[in-house]
Amino acid sequence: MATRPRDPYEVLGVPRDADENTIKKAFRKLARELHPDVNRHDPDAEEKFKEAAEAYEILNDAERRATYDRYGHDGLRSGGFSPNFEGFGSISDLFDAFFGGAGGGIFGGGFGGGAATGPTQGRDIAVHADITLAEAAAGTSVELSFEAIETCEVCHGNGAKPGTPIVTCERCGGVGVLQQVTRSPFGQVMRQTACDVCGGEGKIPSEPCEHCEGRGREVRRRTLRVDVPEGIADGQRIRLSGRGHAGERGGPAGDLYVMVRVHEDERFVRDGEDLHTMIDVSAPLAALGTTVQVPSLAGEIPVDIPAGTQPGEVIQLRGRGLPPLQRGRTGDLHVHVNVVIPRRLSRQQRELMERLADTLTDGNVRAEEGMLSRLKRALAG
Ligand SMILES: [Zn+2]
Ligand SMILES: [Zn+2]
Repeated sequence: MATRPRDPYEVLGVPRDADENTIKKAFRKLARELHPDVNRHDPDAEEKFKEAAEAYEILNDAERRATYDRYGHDGLRSGGFSPNFEGFGSISDLFDAFFGGAGGGIFGGGFGGGAATGPTQGRDIAVHADITLAEAAAGTSVELSFEAIETCEVCHGNGAKPGTPIVTCERCGGVGVLQQVTRSPFGQVMRQTACDVCGGEGKIPSEPCEHCEGRGREVRRRTLRVDVPEGIADGQRIRLSGRGHAGERGGPAGDLYVMVRVHEDERFVRDGEDLHTMIDVSAPLAALGTTVQVPSLAGEIPVDIPAGTQPGEVIQLRGRGLPPLQRGRTGDLHVHVNVVIPRRLSRQQRELMERLADTLTDGNVRAEEGMLSRLKRALAG
């Protein structure tokens, strides 16, 4: 692809002043999402991972990062930096190159291909649920659809073709680890790595399961109905324990996190359990008093505007806000009255206005509080 490289900060989704740890975390998170076990069906996963890896290569190196900050991608190229991930056979190889096939690297063995031989808990899944403000107020249930790693239905997780035996791994003799001796300036160094044939299990199926290619796990689309409690706010999450990716070697499943997004309702501004709304009332009606229809989460409700209501006055409707998520009382609906002065008067309206103006006395327009305190209140917002 000869497209212009994207800004590495943007690729990883980190601010320009992000520290090393934030960058590492962001990359780890992205890489998890793009891992072939999870993302086998996304044809762009590999390209996306390469892009993320390149961004990480730049931002993780103080010198390269400084060069990029000052001169951009051009500066890096003229400095000789050219990431090239084309030589890898598959994205799995690329992952191994990056994070170490033996479970080291920044994943700490989280991909299960590592030296861990015991039961491993499955990873967590995050899914978004989009709901309206009214649904947040009343509580709702949403149907979620997402891909999850599950135990293979055919081999029940052991990776063997049904009816065929599991045999001891010849490469490691069943111990699951390989000893490697390397020379170093300090002498010989013994290193243990997970067996690359059995993945550390010591046993392999004599004939791999055709359904899952011997992995014992497969990616399946799952649908799940989840109850969203009333009073939930945008950005809150619901944790469903054990509903994440399946574990390995008998380990428990991970958790499912439902990230709730409450859509903005243009009629309301939410402040915790309270809601604010604004209604227009013409100046004559505000002077005379009237009844207006006010939007609420339960539909429109009639609200009395008392005679002499001033611009910016707030009418508080108790209990018309949102219910509390846990304990406490239901919020209120604050109706802000926007008194609108009539414009573009007709000749007749103008005459009426003039006659009204002639009759107004100090008593009609005198404010109930001093100018200074009103000004202070207005400035305090
Ligand atoms: Zn299978
Ligand atoms: Zn082995």
